[in-house]
Amino acid sequence: MRLKYLVIFFLGFLCFAQSTAGRTIPEIIDVGIFSGERINRFNFTVTHGRYLVCNNNHEKLLELTPFSTITFERKGSEFNIIRNDSVLYTEKEIRLQGAAFHNSFILNPSNRDLELRGYDGDLKIDVKNESFFLINSVPFESYVAGTVQWESGFNHHDNFYQVQAIIIRTYALRNLERHSHEGFHLCDKVHCQAYYGKSTEASIIAAVNTCRGEVVVDRNGNLLNTVYHANCGGETVNSEDLWTEALPYLRSDKDTYCTDMPGSHWQATISARELGNFLQQRYRYNPTENEWKGITGFRQSSRRHYLDPGERVHLRHIREHFGLRSTYFSIRIEGENLLLTGKGYGHGVGLCQEGAMQRARHGHSREEILKFYYRNTSIQYLETEEVW
Ligand SMILES: [Zn+2]
Ligand SMILES: [Zn+2]
Repeated sequence: MRLKYLVIFFLGFLCFAQSTAGRTIPEIIDVGIFSGERINRFNFTVTHGRYLVCNNNHEKLLELTPFSTITFERKGSEFNIIRNDSVLYTEKEIRLQGAAFHNSFILNPSNRDLELRGYDGDLKIDVKNESFFLINSVPFESYVAGTVQWESGFNHHDNFYQVQAIIIRTYALRNLERHSHEGFHLCDKVHCQAYYGKSTEASIIAAVNTCRGEVVVDRNGNLLNTVYHANCGGETVNSEDLWTEALPYLRSDKDTYCTDMPGSHWQATISARELGNFLQQRYRYNPTENEWKGITGFRQSSRRHYLDPGERVHLRHIREHFGLRSTYFSIRIEGENLLLTGKGYGHGVGLCQEGAMQRARHGHSREEILKFYYRNTSIQYLETEEVW
């Protein structure tokens, strides 16, 4: 092989993984909804448009108009389709297919601990592992708007919603293969991103539309790993200080915008004996009297990553074991107990949501906010691939 072709081959290989070159956004994606929940009965109500109930052979069984409701009840590996208390059909797999320009529905499981949720798009119904197995084929941007609402809540500035939309869109596109072995793209849990239905908030939908198709990419045009957290406590974390990979855009920096926000401070009390037991059980570490003094008087004026000077005890492990809000805390002895005074909420890598909210309120644009939390990156527009 000539050198020229070798170089082209090698460059092609480098660009393969997440490059946006030639990449488009799918018009529709498949999201596993109520994933992890065991559902045996639910109501389906049309809220907008028109739905065709089609069986496995694409035969139309029913047509549903707004406010008509049908009930699905699992019986072993099949299910009954019920209307007005009579069983109309028994099937193994069906699709509720939207037939108007805009179609949406409400799904109301009879489980006491689950609330009804609204969705755009189609619904595929199947039975797996003694439960309904539900897939929402949803227009991609409707998924983004729903996820912005569930991941960030209400009453935020338009620029913040745009930032949140761009990072959610980028994260979703990067992870489209995550559940391919299960027959859908993304789940609706925090494992992918929280998507408990469509957005009900006009300002979120408008912000998502303003930045429609926009993703954030690194210098080589690759989609970023757009991790985020609630509040960094005034200092973000390098990716390698928490995980193993050092990503050039996930660099630690001081953040002055989040330090007066609701998630900026916390306190917790743990027993000194419990901490001692944890060090012994997890690391076989019995601190000397002097070392214990250092640990119980541990201070972080700027972020540190280990509790002990020997760098055995990673603060991430302490956070996980004691269920703390962050690793950014100091310790003081109070009798038999240790008082932990902490800053921030979450892992601290990438975008700080409360910092980004404040920056948006101070007039920072979506580009400025993204460039602060993801260094040397830019926004890129991707076309939506049309499906006919
Ligand atoms: Zn997932
Ligand atoms: Zn912050």
